[in-house]
Amino acid sequence: MTRVAIIGGGISGLSAAYALEKERVQGREVDYQLFESSSRLGGACYSEIVDGCVIEAGPDSFVSEKPWAAALCRELGIGDQLIGSNDNDRKTWIVVRNRLIPLPDGLMFLVPTKILPTAFSPLFSWGTKFRMARELMHPPRPMQQDETVAAFIERHFGREMVDRLADPMLSGIYGGDTDQLSVRATLGRFVDMEEKYGSLSRAMLVANKKMKEAMKDRPKPPLFTSLKNGMQQLVDTLVARLTPQWIHLDTAIQSIEKRDSKYVLQLSTGEAQPFDAVILATPANIAGRLLANIDTHLSEDLASIPYSSSATVILVYDIADLRNLPGGHGFLVPRSEGRRMRACTFVHNKFPHRAPPDKGVLRCFMGGANDAAILQLSDEEILAIVRRELREIVRLDAEPKIVRIYRWRGAMAQYPPGHLDRVDRIERAIAAIPGLGVAGNAFRGIGVPDCVRTGTAAAQGVLGIKEDTAKTAR
Ligand SMILES: Cc1cc2nc3c(=O)[nH]c(=O)nc-3n(C[C@H](O)[C@H](O)[C@H](O)COP(=O)(O)OP(=O)(O)OC[C@H]3O[C@@H](n4cnc5c(N)ncnc54)[C@H](O)[C@@H]3O)c2cc1C
Repeated sequence: MTRVAIIGGGISGLSAAYALEKERVQGREVDYQLFESSSRLGGACYSEIVDGCVIEAGPDSFVSEKPWAAALCRELGIGDQLIGSNDNDRKTWIVVRNRLIPLPDGLMFLVPTKILPTAFSPLFSWGTKFRMARELMHPPRPMQQDETVAAFIERHFGREMVDRLADPMLSGIYGGDTDQLSVRATLGRFVDMEEKYGSLSRAMLVANKKMKEAMKDRPKPPLFTSLKNGMQQLVDTLVARLTPQWIHLDTAIQSIEKRDSKYVLQLSTGEAQPFDAVILATPANIAGRLLANIDTHLSEDLASIPYSSSATVILVYDIADLRNLPGGHGFLVPRSEGRRMRACTFVHNKFPHRAPPDKGVLRCFMGGANDAAILQLSDEEILAIVRRELREIVRLDAEPKIVRIYRWRGAMAQYPPGHLDRVDRIERAIAAIPGLGVAGNAFRGIGVPDCVRTGTAAAQGVLGIKEDTAKTAR
């Protein structure tokens, strides 16, 4: 019997447990014990249903392009609960001096692919528009050294593009700062495009054409996928498949030691338990600390992956009070605007299934890499900031009927330049230590799909299944 410990009961740890449970049901001699320090499973994935509205505390969806989370939902039998974002009303606004300016049509992530909408957009100055036109002539350039996203985008389109677009977009995804994020780790596709084509706009046009041909006669998938009743549905369905007595809430792992061929875990209950294998599905800095007695270099590499903190503020209104709100999925706030709100999603537009017709839900994202101080404020102070900024940005003065504030301390991994080299070292070290696996958002993808992928792969890895890909969790 192989005894596996899983540390951390977020979506990564639960995916690992589910993969082991499947092996057990199929007759493999394995038992697993999942240890979660808090009193709840799901980690950053947490939803509540209040007054008919689905309120997402952490992730509200995942990108459809990465298949692992949706595939898991289908496997779990909740494929019929998957919903797509309402891309008919996909407009995103950028706040510029308290005005909402729409992202121009044809902008693919950060790259302009249509001349006229970009040329007439008030989002960019004529200097930037000129840079965009000149970018079409950018020569191919082999990437020698990793650089920041800001440096990379600035080389192509100028600083205004970084401030107005790249920074607010990546701030929404990573809670990060483009002056600190690695371009290879976060926008690796752009680096490949630059190597091959030089110009990102030209490369995007080629990619777009190929995609259109491949998707001919097929419906366009939604940009984001989620679950009707929120991301909690995935957590609850996963948990229902696990062996209940093997899940231990309110039990933190305090240290790990290797004694002979066993990993001995010290539990916060005072007990010590031996295991044949361990999967660390905690934030990487905690995993690093726990591995201090196993491998110093690995421990240091994991511990030095930085994390950002954030808060989400969800406000439920009577829909009549939102009549002045424009359509679209919401707005992004560039840091240069000097505000504390980084983004606001119009949930009732992005996922209409998540609010009854007479309600509107706004979800505001605060904090991130440069504003961890937001977590020090009281709920009243955070709410006052959000309401003032909504009043100034979208003239919304109405009293919200429901307010929820969630704080996420050190929840989102940051990928600084050199991150992928560090991850290569971590993967090599893990591969060399039998019975050890890591999973989570600290490696090659921040979102829920990558957590599902790494959790599953770590479980397969410690059992020696698909050793080549599983242990490296690529
Ligand atoms: C506000 C916010 C919005 C997000 N939005 C999106 C989105 O829209 N789409 C998307 O795809 N992703 C999004 N993400 C990212 C995504 O939610 C996370 O990457 C993912 O949920 C992380 O899952 P995890 O299991 O790896 O880690 P976590 O959810 O952090 O779980 C780790 C668990 O380990 C436990 N733990 C820690 N230390 C110990 C210990 N010593 N012993 C035992 N247990 C321990 C913790 O209590 C926690 O439950 C968002 C994240 C946040 C915070």
